[in-house]
Amino acid sequence: MFSLRLSQALDWLYPPRCRYCRESISKDEDYFCHACWAKIRLVSPPLCTRCGRPFLDAGGDDHLCGACLMHAPYFEKARSWACYPSEESEGHPLREIVQRFKYRRKVSLGKPLGRLMARGCYSFLSGCPVDLVIPVPLHPKRLRWRGFNQAVILAREVGRLWKLPVDPFILVRSRETPPQTQLAEEERRKNMRGAFSLNPAKPVDAKTILLVDDVYTSGATVNECSRTLLRAGAKEVYVLTLARTV
Ligand SMILES: [Zn+2]
Ligand SMILES: [Zn+2]
Repeated sequence: MFSLRLSQALDWLYPPRCRYCRESISKDEDYFCHACWAKIRLVSPPLCTRCGRPFLDAGGDDHLCGACLMHAPYFEKARSWACYPSEESEGHPLREIVQRFKYRRKVSLGKPLGRLMARGCYSFLSGCPVDLVIPVPLHPKRLRWRGFNQAVILAREVGRLWKLPVDPFILVRSRETPPQTQLAEEERRKNMRGAFSLNPAKPVDAKTILLVDDVYTSGATVNECSRTLLRAGAKEVYVLTLARTV
């Protein structure tokens, strides 16, 4: 009773606000206001059966995309919660919120974002026979600079909600990679080669792994992580990301 009154008083003192534009929101709206939700496009079919790329504004069934037909990825399936346009020109609530989380170190955004992803990808996650959740690692240098790994925060939320073990100490980023943004697809793949290694004290053999990251851009990073895990004997790798650029 007391805690109910306390939470009502807190709502009165600090009405819930949109995480992006700070507009006040009603109790039944989650995290974002109505106008911001309208801009956030959830990933929905039809999509690529492998990498989860949504075929925006197209009808029909799910099928393999051109990129997956050309180079089959190492992972079984990748899925993302929502997507946003890759061009920086227009402000987009999800892209901005991801950037605030990562680059402006708004660590408190991590848990709600992890929750949105873990709940929103229910049907994907319930179809993955996952033994272990592994976040995509940062290079130690970048980790020191940023102070936290955004993928670890998201992975922990998935683990908590799905009651799955999370281990951020298995996969190691052993080589620093130059920024990928200016590179073409083939170059991104080469750029990532050998960037990850595994902690020898933590075998992954015969395990089904769920890799978690914040954004799927070309897929080169999660593909290289998957290659490393499979070479070390992992059974299968699935990929879950909060967002995806389209
Ligand atoms: Zn808003
Ligand atoms: Zn694909």
